[in-house]
Order: sequence, then structure tokens, then C-alpha cells
Amino acid sequence: MNPAYGAARSFWAPGALTLKRMTTRTCSRITCHNVAVSTFTYVYADSMAVLGPLSTQHEPHSYDLCAKHSESLSAPQGWQVVRYVAVGNDF
Ligand SMILES: [Zn+2]
Repeated sequence: MNPAYGAARSFWAPGALTLKRMTTRTCSRITCHNVAVSTFTYVYADSMAVLGPLSTQHEPHSYDLCAKHSESLSAPQGWQVVRYVAVGNDF
């Protein structure tokens, strides 16, 4: 077993029950309650923001976004935005 996983389990507390289930992840924008369809990840080392399919795990510097906010997302000035488009889409 991954040691980090074991450590996390030992800190299991009542508050952890408020964690959202993977299947009901919503947009990370504060005022938005839409279902997340993609994950936006900041790659600080490369000043790059990557928008891709919804990730299976939550990672540091990544945010789930709904379809609407995926469309309208913008990166900080000087950053490059990279969008992974699902196969089959005509872009
Ligand atoms: Zn949203």
C-alpha cells in the first residue's frame, strides 16, 4: 500500500465526510454548481494552464470546471493555455 495513503487514512475525521464523492464533482468556481466536465491544471514551471478531461484524482493546482467555465476560462497574463480536445470533436 502507498504509505501516504495509509497516513491519510489514519487522519480520517468526521469532517472528511463532507468531501464530495468522485461521481458528483462540481465546478470549482465559487458561485457555480454545475457538474464538472474538465480539469484545469496550472503548470507553474512552464507558465502553462492545461485544460483536459476530468481527472480521476484531485491533484495540487488543479481545478474542476463545468462546460461553461471551461469555455470561458482565461489564464494569467503571460501564461499559455493548452486545451486537450476530446477525440471526435471538430475543432
Ligand atoms: Zn462552472
